[in-house]
Amino acid sequence: MNLAIALGSVSGLVGIDVDDPDQYSPLEKKIPEISGTARSKTPRGYHFYFNTDKNFPNTMTFLGLQDVELRSRGLYCVAPDSVVDGITYVWENPLDNALELPDHILPFLHEHDAPVSSVYPPFRSDGQKCIQQILNRDIEKGLRNDSLFCLYCLLLKKNKPSHAVRIIRTKNFNLARSLTENELFWVCSDVKESYNLFGCDAVRKRLPFVDCSGCKFFYRGFRMKENLILKHYKSIPDRSPVKVKILEIIELFFDGELPSITKLSRTAKIDWRIVDKAVKELKMEGIL
Ligand SMILES: [Zn+2]
Repeated sequence: MNLAIALGSVSGLVGIDVDDPDQYSPLEKKIPEISGTARSKTPRGYHFYFNTDKNFPNTMTFLGLQDVELRSRGLYCVAPDSVVDGITYVWENPLDNALELPDHILPFLHEHDAPVSSVYPPFRSDGQKCIQQILNRDIEKGLRNDSLFCLYCLLLKKNKPSHAVRIIRTKNFNLARSLTENELFWVCSDVKESYNLFGCDAVRKRLPFVDCSGCKFFYRGFRMKENLILKHYKSIPDRSPVKVKILEIIELFFDGELPSITKLSRTAKIDWRIVDKAVKELKMEGIL
């Protein structure tokens, strides 16, 4: 039977997984205590354990070292005398000898792995309630990537990238099973320039749990057609074809969100001054 040691404040342990033996000496330079703490031999390298009641963000590049993984809340280490691929894990220094995580590492951890709070900093949402719904929920395994991806796209629209990253990292850290730093990196790198077009509609396609009925723009599809165009058509005083066209374009190409005048004019193939004037009027009429 194989055993695993849960990590994080549940067990009061943090694990450091070193798969590449060449990384041992750079790690020892940064944490001299590593040679004295509990250690097990793994098929490829070592697991080191320290005592700590703190939770840390899991990372694959602990202290900036490639393939040195810090494992904390939500993760575990396979423990001796488990056998994996015919190789037995053994204690070289038993768990009872685990040292306290040295204080000198703490500032370094915070510096590099900022989120340690479950409170999210304020952000701009532009009326999209689905952002808060994603934040409020502990995400099940199959939806973590999609959820963090959607969250990131939505946040990028109205927040600085560094701020959006801070929030999704905090969110990831708060998950019962966080993605590793590397996995999170890949989620973020999936985000293309077109995040500006990413609206509630796209979120709902990926995340069945969101309910956008409270969102400012319900977006695209039947709801929008009724709402934006048909519902407001009668209230456009002059029934201007330009205004109707603009509303259609916003619905069809911009997921119901008002893009810049330049983009709108290019897409509608209408001179920007005309578009600008029409948008201003639609705003004054309370339609946009
Ligand atoms: Zn929404």
